[in-house]
Amino acid sequence: MDYQAILNIIQKEFKPNRDMGNAANYIPELSKVDPLKFGMYLYCKDGSSYQFGDSQEKFSIQSISKVFTLTLAKELLGKDLWKRVDVEPSGTAFNSLTELEREHGIPRNPFINAGSIVVADALMSTLENPKQDLLKFVRKLCGDDNINFDESVAKSEKKHGYRNKALVNYMKSLGNINNKTETILDFYFHQCSIAMTCEQLTKAFMLYANEGKHFQTQEQVIAPQSVKRINSIMQTCGFYDEAGEFSYRVGLPGKSGVGGGIVAVHPEQYAVTVWSPMLNKKGNSALGMKVLEELTTLTGLSIF
Ligand code: GLU
Repeated sequence: MDYQAILNIIQKEFKPNRDMGNAANYIPELSKVDPLKFGMYLYCKDGSSYQFGDSQEKFSIQSISKVFTLTLAKELLGKDLWKRVDVEPSGTAFNSLTELEREHGIPRNPFINAGSIVVADALMSTLENPKQDLLKFVRKLCGDDNINFDESVAKSEKKHGYRNKALVNYMKSLGNINNKTETILDFYFHQCSIAMTCEQLTKAFMLYANEGKHFQTQEQVIAPQSVKRINSIMQTCGFYDEAGEFSYRVGLPGKSGVGGGIVAVHPEQYAVTVWSPMLNKKGNSALGMKVLEELTTLTGLSIF
């Protein structure tokens, strides 16, 4: 497969233009990013890699971080985690409060904000230095120590994060949160603020394309069974109320973030990241969705 030729076709075919949507503005710091940024990076299990555009520029990974925190929490807590968060698609927006009341404070899945906040709470109770331990884990996955929180993004979200605060407090009132609201939010906003390039994200996500093994060292980081579980949740819940649409169009498990990044995984083949900050109405990168649809169409490779 000539992946570079396919990426070149995609780069030519899809030019970002301002009609595609807006960069996230409910986190003011994210609205400062140039909306026309566009990059892609694909890494194959055989070690070959392909890229174009702004693939080496760092951006805010936002909800893509939820895959890393889930992976860590699953390793540390095993099945106990599922007593506090479910694995059903939500069909509602990422920051929705509606089902929480109906479902007694148990979030639908670990990739909506409420679910990821429960995961954050579980990690806070288990890890010695939650923020540093998370960074250490992500750095290890992509074999690169040059990964950090973007303090200005974390601060910006903290200042405007009324909805996330409401989610924590509501779940706390129903007994599904153990730590202090402020401490959990500090951890959650920091995990979302991690800045990474398309290359770094892709390499980290090779874990889910390579049976739980590190892309470089081949160390078994998590069990293949965990990969099956996490990829399944990405497939059904990775794009909030657009998870069905992404699955239908792209046919791969993946995860988006409001920083405009999308990572997708083809088990046993490759991981790929696209970054374009303009979001559609559901909060997913408008161009990113199109590009990944074209990738699986041109390669003829999806999991279905
Ligand atoms: N930090 C964002 C929030 O909590 C993440 C949302 C996203 O990337 O989907 O609202």
